[in-house]
Amino acid sequence: MKIIDILKNPNPTISFEVFPPKTDALFDSVEKACEEIADLKPSYMSVTYGAGGGTSAHTVNISKNLQEKKGVVSLAHLSCISSTEELVHSQLEKLREAKIENILALRGDIPEGFDASHLDYHHASDLAKEIKDFGGFCVGGACYPEGHPDSANSNEDIDNLKKKIDSGCEFLTTQMFFDNNIHYKFLYKAREKGIFCPIIPGIMPITNGKQVERAIKLSGTIMPARFLSIVDRFGNDKEAMTQAGIAYATDQIIDLFANGITHVHVYSMNKPEVAKKILENLSAIVK
Ligand code: FAD
Repeated sequence: MKIIDILKNPNPTISFEVFPPKTDALFDSVEKACEEIADLKPSYMSVTYGAGGGTSAHTVNISKNLQEKKGVVSLAHLSCISSTEELVHSQLEKLREAKIENILALRGDIPEGFDASHLDYHHASDLAKEIKDFGGFCVGGACYPEGHPDSANSNEDIDNLKKKIDSGCEFLTTQMFFDNNIHYKFLYKAREKGIFCPIIPGIMPITNGKQVERAIKLSGTIMPARFLSIVDRFGNDKEAMTQAGIAYATDQIIDLFANGITHVHVYSMNKPEVAKKILENLSAIVK
């Protein structure tokens, strides 16, 4: 099933994100965690992609397993900046063969010292077009309510986002954010620029203090004072931080649903217990 059709559901729905193992040795434990999350029956699951190495092959394997064994629709991520047309086509063939119908088209982060002189792809929009031309896939893209760190400003970033939609992206998933007002402002700006596709908020339940530093480094996201005081108070106590982080994420999700958003993507990070708790907290809302 195509995600663009899943998103037509007018009732509150949740999807989860998982990441493939970094080494073959970890495959079984990651697969088990993914299956436990799939048993919660989310409306779909996304599987991230690490360019090169074992993880790119595992993105297909995990996505396929979720669909075939667990009956959960999967969204396979695919990045392009350090890839060639040939590699992208071979990955698309594998995804088609595995009956994966949904791809999140990404540029990927630019590695330090990267030689950008002979690239087959410069932006996610190049990949989105290529996938659409290949045929048969529902294509999504990433977006950044606080602007992508490479952009001069958020207006320029939204203009570029419009190019991504014009290249074939049918829905967008946001980078994590911790203040819903940032998302509402972004939605308003995107609609003003003519971006009318579904924009799915991505929510990250923070379960340890170190994750906060990583989140800030990765996305430059603004941490509201209310959230920072939770981290200050509970960041060094794993159990307390897990409980508080899940409560904070739940609160964000309820506010999003209350404000007319129908679908939320949760960065569940291969943690079935976190995914389960979030759904328990929403048991009368997400049915
Ligand atoms: P792009 O859309 O290409 O944007 C990157 C920069 O280029 C922006 O500044 C943008 O404004 C500019 N730009 C875009 N299009 C144009 C254009 N046509 N002309 C000029 N400028 C342009 N990374 C992974 O490696 N694997 C994953 O699985 C993964 N999953 C992700 C999922 C989500 C929901 C998100 C939000 C991010 C994910 N990332 C992943 C990280 C992502 O790869 C990085 O943030 C990367 O730096 C940018 O990727 P992008 O697809 O957003 O790039």
